[in-house]
Amino acid sequence: MSKPLEALQFDNTYAQLPESFYQVVFPTPFQESRVVAFSASCADLIDLDPAENTKPEFSARLSGALPLPGSWPIAQVYAGHQFGNLVPRLGDGRAILLGEACGSRPHVWNRYRGLSGRKWDLHLKGAGPTNFSRGFDGRAVLRSCIREYLASEFLEALGIPTTRALAVLGSRDPVFRETPEPGAMVVRVAPSHIRFGTFEYFYYQQQFHHLKELADFTLSHYFPDQEKAEAPYAELCREVVIRTAQLIAHWQAFGFTHGVMNTDNFSILGITLDYGPYGFLESFDPGHVSNHSDEHGMYAFGNQPQVGWFNLQCLIRALSPLLKREQAQAALEEYEPAMAGCYLGLMADKLGFLKRREEDERLIGSLLEALPGTDYTLFFRRLANFNSDSSTLDLSFLDGISDSPERLRPWLEQYRTRIIDEALDPTQRRVHMNRVNPKFILRNHLAQLAIERSEGGDDTELHRLATVLSRPFEEQPGQEFYSLPAPAGTKKCVISCSS
Ligand code: AMP
Ligand code: MG
Repeated sequence: MSKPLEALQFDNTYAQLPESFYQVVFPTPFQESRVVAFSASCADLIDLDPAENTKPEFSARLSGALPLPGSWPIAQVYAGHQFGNLVPRLGDGRAILLGEACGSRPHVWNRYRGLSGRKWDLHLKGAGPTNFSRGFDGRAVLRSCIREYLASEFLEALGIPTTRALAVLGSRDPVFRETPEPGAMVVRVAPSHIRFGTFEYFYYQQQFHHLKELADFTLSHYFPDQEKAEAPYAELCREVVIRTAQLIAHWQAFGFTHGVMNTDNFSILGITLDYGPYGFLESFDPGHVSNHSDEHGMYAFGNQPQVGWFNLQCLIRALSPLLKREQAQAALEEYEPAMAGCYLGLMADKLGFLKRREEDERLIGSLLEALPGTDYTLFFRRLANFNSDSSTLDLSFLDGISDSPERLRPWLEQYRTRIIDEALDPTQRRVHMNRVNPKFILRNHLAQLAIERSEGGDDTELHRLATVLSRPFEEQPGQEFYSLPAPAGTKKCVISCSS
């Protein structure tokens, strides 16, 4: 069933929309390119033969040096609220939608809501300038492409809705940031790249007929259930509010900081989009800011639920010409309960609770107060082995992952009471908890090591890391190195926007 790249089936529906939705533009290929990373599980979405990536013409076809039959490349226009300020015209300044490839079978892209599809955008980031480049070079550096690749495939492995990454194509051509760096492209794969900002563009241009066209297109291609409803636009809003709330609840439960929560980086499908200066929490810190350019910490980890709310308000304002006031209000009212329901459910699972209780919310709140200074991921992973039988509280599971184990003692006392009360078999509890608490997360120092090796032309460390991260809940004996926090004295890497 799998096919060579030149035999992919394309169904370019977005390119059939009016010209004011995009610019037709071909990628500007690099001089010389190589496949730095390739995801066979992503290739499976579009029935692409995984052996294709070893052919010399693979990267040449994807990066525009050779024709890609059936592709109709376009750069999409959109607007966006960036750090709270409206930018009325952005658009794909360095990414090109090569086309919508159709697979033969549906694949799930939102496990939490059981959503699946057969049509996938192939989006080439770092593809060269477009009409929307605003004087920038249209390029991306190898380090940022590797970071996007690792994060996309890792969030998928965690079960968090996300865009995927098919491949990183590296080049010898330098790209200039503060210094010359190796350039690259990443092939992003997602059911759609329609953003909150796409709706904002037509709203602020006051092109309400196009706004309606976009909403109708979105409904008919991606929201078939809502399209059938009596009030389709209101149902679309309601569904997007719920999905966005659930997405951010997942980020909070797994300790993911997006870094640039601008509305142009928010997908209408409720999937994680645009991996730039993101980060996973290591030591728990609600104030954690992963983006060096975010001087005021607007997009700090603990602010993400609030920013999601702001972004949804922007979206619903943009859709207001199609809504009644009460419909807009009713959609927004879904946000808090959807977020709280999803988050508390995920956290109760992480704590190994079989039954939900009213006091859980308070228990989770008091844990988060005691957790700063403790490795967020390993705390939950090791909590699975917590011994509730012994008469003295054993804090040794915090060795090496907490600078203040004593701070957690009062909380652990409460936790012990709770699990004794629940009387779940400890082995069952451990199995259950290990299925939801990853042992491995994408730590910055691990990504950095893989990046430095790839910049030197050796991609084996990147492949090893990607393989470990593809099974984050498994023990993987012998791979302890990839589960541990950065050794003391590791240089902090500085990550900012648009590299
Ligand atoms: P980002 O911070 O990556 O979400 O980018 C925000 C906007 O700037 C998007 O419209 C991008 O297409 C554009 N952009 C970012 N970097 C570049 C670049 N190097 N060349 C052209 N456009 C860019
Ligand atoms: Mg972006």
